[in-house]
Amino acid sequence: MVGRIKKEDIEKVRSSADLYDIVSDSVTLKASGSGTFMGLCPFHDEKTPSFSVRPALGAWHCFGCGLGGDVFGYVEQSESVGFAEAVEILADKYGIELHYENTPNSQQRTGSTRSRLLQANEEAQKFFVSQVMSKEALPARKLLGGRTFTKSQSARFGCGYAPRGWDNLVRYLAGKGFTQQEMIDAGLARQGQRGVYDYFRGRATWPIRDSTGRTIGFGARKLYDDDTIQAKYINTPDTTLYHKNQVLYGIDLAKKAIVAKRQVVIVEGYTDVMACHLAGIDTAVATCGTAFGIEHAKIVRRLISDDALGAVQLIGPVRGSRVIFTFDGDAAGQKAAIHAFGLDGTFLTQTFVAVAQDGLDPCDLRIKHGDVAVQKLIEGAKPLYDFVIDTAIAAFDTQYTTGQVGAMKAVAPVIAQIRDRSLVGMYAQKAARNIGVSLGQMNEEVQSARRRMNIRDEDAYAPRHSRQSFDAQLERNENMTPGAQSQHRLAVQRKGAVQAARQGYFHVDDSVFICEQQLMGAIIQIPQAVDRERFEELDELSFSVPLFKSLYQAIYVAGGLPPDDMPAGLWLHNLSKAGGPLLEPVINELAVLPLPLPGHENGGNANFGPDSSRGAGSAAAQGNAEGDGASGLRGTGLRHSSVAEPEAQEAAAQYVSELMAKLRDGSLMRRIAAIRRQMNAAADSSMKLRLLQTITNLEAERKQIRARIFEVSHRT
Ligand code: ZN
Repeated sequence: MVGRIKKEDIEKVRSSADLYDIVSDSVTLKASGSGTFMGLCPFHDEKTPSFSVRPALGAWHCFGCGLGGDVFGYVEQSESVGFAEAVEILADKYGIELHYENTPNSQQRTGSTRSRLLQANEEAQKFFVSQVMSKEALPARKLLGGRTFTKSQSARFGCGYAPRGWDNLVRYLAGKGFTQQEMIDAGLARQGQRGVYDYFRGRATWPIRDSTGRTIGFGARKLYDDDTIQAKYINTPDTTLYHKNQVLYGIDLAKKAIVAKRQVVIVEGYTDVMACHLAGIDTAVATCGTAFGIEHAKIVRRLISDDALGAVQLIGPVRGSRVIFTFDGDAAGQKAAIHAFGLDGTFLTQTFVAVAQDGLDPCDLRIKHGDVAVQKLIEGAKPLYDFVIDTAIAAFDTQYTTGQVGAMKAVAPVIAQIRDRSLVGMYAQKAARNIGVSLGQMNEEVQSARRRMNIRDEDAYAPRHSRQSFDAQLERNENMTPGAQSQHRLAVQRKGAVQAARQGYFHVDDSVFICEQQLMGAIIQIPQAVDRERFEELDELSFSVPLFKSLYQAIYVAGGLPPDDMPAGLWLHNLSKAGGPLLEPVINELAVLPLPLPGHENGGNANFGPDSSRGAGSAAAQGNAEGDGASGLRGTGLRHSSVAEPEAQEAAAQYVSELMAKLRDGSLMRRIAAIRRQMNAAADSSMKLRLLQTITNLEAERKQIRARIFEVSHRT
C-alpha cells in the first residue's frame, strides 16, 4: 500500500504550480480583466468560452458545465487521475520531491501509474534514438536521408530506430527497473506465448508527444520486406496515455505557433510534419494512423479559440483563424468532401484545403521543389467549400450543355448540404458563374437536391443567439393544433429556462445580491484588501442571501480572514474545505468572479497576495527559458502582474469597505423594518416607545455608516 503524500509537500507543489501555464497547454486563454482568463472549456464541448481561470488564486471554474476547483482538481479532470497522481504529475513537472507517510521507500510502489508509463515511454525514446546510428539501422538512415533530412534535423524530431529481434527494448526497460506489466500498459510490449516481446521491431520510429512535450507513444514505419506486420505505419495501441483520436503528431513543436498565428496545418504523415516545419510552416501537425475527427477538431479549436465563434476579445489585432488541410493524390477532392460533411459547421467556415498541383505531399514537394514550394502550397489554400465545389465542377467539360448539366447535378448536393445558410446563396451564385448557367437554374437544382436529401431548414446550422431561429420556432406554432401548440410553447420555454439556468446565479439582477456576491468575491480573491476591524463588525445577519450566509460561516470555520502571508491557493483550499462539497463550486465561481475595480477592464492588476510576485517570477523565468513568443498576452503584463501598485491596493481596500458598509446598512434597514412591523403590532404603548427608541438608535447607526462611506470615498 502506498503511503499518503506529506501535507507540506502537497502545499509546496500547490504554490509552485502555475495554473495559467498548465491550462495553457491545452486551452488558449485570453485576459478578461481583473486577473481572470477565459477560454473554451476542455471538459465540455462549447463554442463560446465559459471556462474561467484565476491564476493568482490557482482557481478555475466553468460557467457552462459547472466543473471547477484548484490546480490539482484541474489535473485530476484533464488527465483522468486521482488526487495523489495529480500531485505526483505536478511534482514531476516542477521538480519537487515528494515524501510519503508510513513508507520508508516510495520506490516500492506497485501498479502502472501514469507517471511510470510516461517514464517508460521516455526511456523507450532514449533507446530508439540511441539505436539510430547503429549498423543495423542503415535502412532507417537511408529512409530519412532520402527525404533530405540531415542527421541533426532527424535528431530534432526525435527520429529513432527500433531494432529487429524480439526483446531488445524489453530487456533495456527491464534493466531500467520497469515491470513487464508496465511495458505492456505503456504500449511498448506485448504478451506472447513465451513472455513479453517488443511491440515495435525493425522500424523507423517517431515519438508522439503531448502538447507539453511528454512522449506518450510512437509511430513506426516499415523498413524490411520480411516484416511480420504488413502495415506501412503502425502506432502505439490505445493506452492510458495514448488515444489515437486525440493525438496529433508535432503538437509539442507546433503548439506555440498555432496559438500565436491562430492557424493550424494538418498534414497526413510524420515526414510531412517534418518537411513543413523545416520549410517554415511551424504550425503543422498530423493525425496518427486515423483520420482527422471530432476529437482532433476540439483540440485544435481550443488552441486557436476563434473570435468569430464568439470568444472574448483578443488583445491586439484580431485575425481570423485558419485550419488548413493538405491532401495529396487523386482522392484529395473526395477526402476533402468527407471532411466537409463530417465536421461541424462552425469549424468548417474557417477550414481551408491545400493541394499541390502535381498531387505531391508536402514532403515530396519539398524534395522536388524546395521550401518555397511548401510555403506557397499553404499560402494558396482555398476555402474548403470552394475546393469541394471546384473539384466537382472540374470533372465535367462545361463547354457543352451536357457537361453543364452534369456539373450542376454534381455540385447541387454539395451546396445543399452546407449548413451555414448564409453561405448557400453565395456558393450557388459562384457555381452558376463557373458552370455558365443562370442563378435561377442553379438554385432550382439546389432546391431539388435539398428535397431529395430531406434537408430542412431546422437542420441547417444557425448562428448562435440567432433571433431568426427562435422566431422560426415560434412561427411553426401557427400550423399546429392547439394542444400541440401549447406543448410546443412549453418546450420552447423550457429550452429558454435551461439556457437561463446555465448562466447560473452569476447574472442575477439584484443590488443586495450583487453587493453580497461582490464582497464574498473580494474576501476570497483579495483578502488583504479587507479591513479586519470592519469585517469583525459583520455577522451572519449582515447577509440576506442564504448561500452567502453559509459562506460567511465557512469563513469563520476556516479561521476568519487569512494572515497576510498565507499563499492565495492555500487560503482558497482551506476555505473550500471548511465550506464542504456544497459550497465548493460557489467558492470556485467567486474566485473567478470579475470585480469592478478601477483599471481592471484593461487587465490591470488584481493580485495583491504574496502569491502574485511568485507567479510573476516563475512565469517570467519559464517564458524566457522557453523563448516564448507565442502568447501575445505575456508581454503586456496582463497576468501575474509583478507589482501591486499602492493606488490599486488602496482603491481595492476602499471598494471593499464600501461593500461592507452597504452590507451593514442593508442589514440595519432589514432590522428596522422588522422592528417597525413589531411596533405596529404591539398593544403596549411603553413597548412601542422602547421599539421606537431602538429604531432611532439604528437609524443613527445607519447615518454614521453612510457618513463613513462618504468620508472614505472623498478622501482620495
Ligand atoms: Zn465546462
